Amino acid sequence: MSEKMLKFVKIGQQTPPKREVGNRKEDFNEIYKEFINNKASEQSSRCSQCGVPFCQVHCPLSNNIPDWLKLTAEGRLKEAYELSQSTNNMPEVCGRICPQDRLCEGNCVIEQSGHGTVTIGSVEKYITDNAWEQGWVNPIKVKNEKSQSIGIIGAGPAGLAAAEQLRKLGYQITVYDRYDRAGGLMIYGIPNFKLEKFVVERRTKLLEEGGIKFVQNFEVGKDATLEQLRKKHDSLLIATGVYKAREIDLPGKDLGNIFPAMEFLTASNKKGLGDRVELFDNGTLNAEGKNIVVIGGGDTAMDCVRTSIRQKAKSVKCLYRRDKENMPGSAREVANAEEEGVEFVWLSSPKEFVGTNKVEGLMVDKIKLGEPDDSGRRKPEIQNDSHFNIKADIVIKALGFDPENLPKLFGSEDLQVTKWGTLKTNFDTMETNLPGVFAAGDIIRGASLVVWAIKDGRDVAVSIKNFLESKEHSKEKVA
Ligand SMILES: Cc1cc2nc3c(=O)[nH]c(=O)nc-3n(C[C@H](O)[C@H](O)[C@H](O)COP(=O)(O)OP(=O)(O)OC[C@H]3O[C@@H](n4cnc5c(N)ncnc54)[C@H](O)[C@@H]3O)c2cc1C
Ligand code: SF4
Repeated sequence: MSEKMLKFVKIGQQTPPKREVGNRKEDFNEIYKEFINNKASEQSSRCSQCGVPFCQVHCPLSNNIPDWLKLTAEGRLKEAYELSQSTNNMPEVCGRICPQDRLCEGNCVIEQSGHGTVTIGSVEKYITDNAWEQGWVNPIKVKNEKSQSIGIIGAGPAGLAAAEQLRKLGYQITVYDRYDRAGGLMIYGIPNFKLEKFVVERRTKLLEEGGIKFVQNFEVGKDATLEQLRKKHDSLLIATGVYKAREIDLPGKDLGNIFPAMEFLTASNKKGLGDRVELFDNGTLNAEGKNIVVIGGGDTAMDCVRTSIRQKAKSVKCLYRRDKENMPGSAREVANAEEEGVEFVWLSSPKEFVGTNKVEGLMVDKIKLGEPDDSGRRKPEIQNDSHFNIKADIVIKALGFDPENLPKLFGSEDLQVTKWGTLKTNFDTMETNLPGVFAAGDIIRGASLVVWAIKDGRDVAVSIKNFLESKEHSKEKVA
């Protein structure tokens, strides 16, 4: 437990201290707040063991929630940890960053009856954090290493979960990643105030200690083709995520100080990890003292506005073309951002970026919601002659992500993709059209969640094992 956390627990504070600056609250300790407010055993004993575990059904990993809550309530924390980690490769990560209000907690029977959910995520996080402190989390020990090797492209949650599952079975695993650190979006996308980086780093270190080989700064498509890796390994997994930022094609789009969300978040995360980041250090990607406008209404937009607040921006506005009820982001994230002083400019859409060399503001159209479209959501329509201006020193575009053109990038034009550019895989086995090449995570789902990436990583590991076993059997037959 960190010193800060211990201090709060010892003095029995119910909420972490907050400093009022104007109408804005600073010094946020979100990660600690959950723990303090919801003491693990107290919360666990609130579970009614209702017999209809909707929480479990709505957890992508089908975590055995009622049972580990019961064990926690009884103080049997080691057993609770063992049960929890048997279905989840990173329970302490999911406990921190799953949108529980849409998954397990949102379907808790106690929540449904109006008495407030059991805070499942906080308990899950607590169980595993405690296990780390107690020394119960140990590296994989392989007794009989197999001769077959698997290459995994992408060290995000999908790649890491698959790597762990397959290493446990004795396979030789090499994980390739184009970044300098493992963890994918858990390390450079999701901000530190939601997921502390040491939590990710200790996981990857544990995998390394378990014999998984990491090759960082290695970009498939540049440092090797997919075919070269296919020749090197008995099977491949592509778990490269989705990184092509959606663009806004408006007048003034090429002005300076308009950045894609990932550029802003990566700089901030790298700083948090102690790196020298020139564009942050010279102020370009630092929100301090500036008027920040974030365009978008998803969770990435929420991460950008909340990071800007923590960097002590002068003002932070979020432009979204629908209203609050129709935001795609988690309601909890929006509430957090509002509480921290972010101003939401609902029903508004940028019309033009204004400035000479650098952006100085935006011209914005007012929007009204029309009839529902094919997706069932009400269509945003521009209100004629309604535009107004907003001042901006930095604009951050957070409009979502699409897959990169992997067949082209990998030099494998025969690798099949869907009409959305995600990799096409067999529904049951997650194998692509290239034999022995599998795919998992965002690159098959589109931008999704860590918990789904972990689920995919676990599922694909089973398919890869089956594939390698049948390959081995057919070799034996020939021999
Ligand atoms: C800002 C932001 C905040 C988010 N917040 C949350 C949250 O709070 N909760 C939640 O559940 N989810 C969140 N998500 C979504 C979540 O992070 C992703 O769904 C998840 O990380 C996908 O896992 P993945 O393993 O498929 O891909 P990634 O995590 O994207 O990992 C892919 C890895 O592949 C590597 N790679 C890509 N191309 C190559 C190549 N050619 N060669 C070698 N390596 C390559 C990348 O460097 C990366 O490390 C967030 C996403 C973003 C962008
Ligand atoms: S993995 Fe996510 S959805 Fe499942 S129990 Fe944990 S927090 Fe809830």
